[in-house]
Amino acid sequence: MTAAALGRFCVPKMDVVLVESDEIGIVGVGEATIPSIKMFNDSLGIDEAEFLAATGGTYKLGIAFEGWGRPDQGYVHAFGLVGSALGVVPFHHYWLRGLKLGISKPLGHYVLHTLAIAANRFDHLSPPANSPLPPLPYAFHFDASLYAKFLRGFAEKLGVVRQEGKIVAVERDQHNGDVSAVVLANGTRISGDLFIDCSGFRGLLIEQELEAGFEDWTHWLQCDRAIAVPCSRVEPLTPLTRSIARKAGWQWRIPLQHRIGNGYVFNSDHISEDEAASTLLANLDGEAMAEPRTIRFKTGRRSKTWVRNVVAIGLSSGFIEPLESTSIHLIQTAITRLIELLPAGEITDATRDDYNARAAFEMERIRDFIILHYHANRREGDAFWDGLRKMQVPEPLQHKIDLFRSTGRVVPSFDELFDTRAWIHVMIGQDIIPETYHPIADQLPERRLKEFLEGLERAHLEQVRRMPDHGAFVAKFAPMKQEMAQA
Ligand SMILES: Cc1cc2nc3c(=O)[nH]c(=O)nc-3n(C[C@H](O)[C@H](O)[C@H](O)COP(=O)(O)OP(=O)(O)OC[C@H]3O[C@@H](n4cnc5c(N)ncnc54)[C@H](O)[C@@H]3O)c2cc1C
Repeated sequence: MTAAALGRFCVPKMDVVLVESDEIGIVGVGEATIPSIKMFNDSLGIDEAEFLAATGGTYKLGIAFEGWGRPDQGYVHAFGLVGSALGVVPFHHYWLRGLKLGISKPLGHYVLHTLAIAANRFDHLSPPANSPLPPLPYAFHFDASLYAKFLRGFAEKLGVVRQEGKIVAVERDQHNGDVSAVVLANGTRISGDLFIDCSGFRGLLIEQELEAGFEDWTHWLQCDRAIAVPCSRVEPLTPLTRSIARKAGWQWRIPLQHRIGNGYVFNSDHISEDEAASTLLANLDGEAMAEPRTIRFKTGRRSKTWVRNVVAIGLSSGFIEPLESTSIHLIQTAITRLIELLPAGEITDATRDDYNARAAFEMERIRDFIILHYHANRREGDAFWDGLRKMQVPEPLQHKIDLFRSTGRVVPSFDELFDTRAWIHVMIGQDIIPETYHPIADQLPERRLKEFLEGLERAHLEQVRRMPDHGAFVAKFAPMKQEMAQA
């Protein structure tokens, strides 16, 4: 992704060399995204149909969380609007008033994406001006290895030079300590002014060479392993990621055109790898297509992601488990920040400090949102979940929960990825129901509120009825070539 973006925006003014090692390969998981991925692809000039066909991609309208509140309950964190504007206060205050009056249905009845997911439908929607209906922002599921291959070809066409080989040594400038070159196993020496460390968990330059340090978050986000296994595709092709709470973590299900990606993210203190693998294999919708693969990780962030002339992007900069599909998004924002701050000459401390402060803020706020899912669980009796419910959470998160519980208000900080809608979905979905709502919501006569809620649901359902089936849409718009699906 970084090479493709630099190729698009910086070549030919700058020389960009991409070093990759086929022997090491890529982590190869990471198949669910959030709507900003579309902006990334669009800004690079990537054709959506071509990209989806090349990566076995499908559409994603949200994530279904199953068993995260009470074990028998579920909710959808859907993209797009919650309800529709009705004056100066957000929709959910009117919905809360309706709840007290007994006239509100569950929140999802007023969310276009949730209704489209329930009906298994998708379309490229842009409603006409003055329509009460929202647009339909969407994300994708795709095969991460195929996306990397696709972007490699894309970057090379733009003039990025790919160098195959394993980096075995790093050279430093004797005067200022900057990295001056990397040396490959075959002796090739690649020098440069700026090095982007996209070497994955190992953090080849940022940690192994520059010792940037790591802020460990495992006391809050306690899962430390994932077991992944693909299985054969089943019908229907659903436009959502599923996240199913399990005894010591959660299972993902990501539908692609040629297979379903599955994984169990878990805490190895509470369950063995063998037990996690058998739980996963017992809960697949299709036939397993490979042996389960274990990936170990540590949650946290690199203390500084820009050190000297090295910028860490991707897993080398830190990791938060894929519960809300945020890692690829973090790569995008890191690329945007880097391009904004691209040095014209010498790199200044102010540049590095600004980059590092923004990266830290962004990741900490995402961390809090992920902790919320674990902390607000109602799974009494499972040691893993009991501990998470009782743990002390970061102060900014506790403040958000307290504010919402007492007033129904969510005030996300400026520049925070997850906005009011996302927090509402998860808090209400996991039974944090506000004691009060905004007093302005009382100004609407009860009869009008009822008409409004009924009309909104009806308009959404009519819109959904006009959409084609998701699988049929994908098969027509961006079918994956048969030979690629079988490769
Ligand atoms: C279990 C799991 C599930 C995930 N699910 C999601 C998800 O649903 N959504 C999402 O957004 N993200 C997800 N992620 C994160 C996502 O996988 C990563 O953000 C993404 O794949 C990018 O990885 P990367 O490029 O940083 O590292 P890698 O894929 O590990 O790539 C590292 C690159 O560095 C090269 N390299 C390393 N060392 C050397 C060397 N010595 N010499 C030469 N080259 C070298 C390798 O060849 C490779 O090309 C998930 C991660 C995990 C662990």
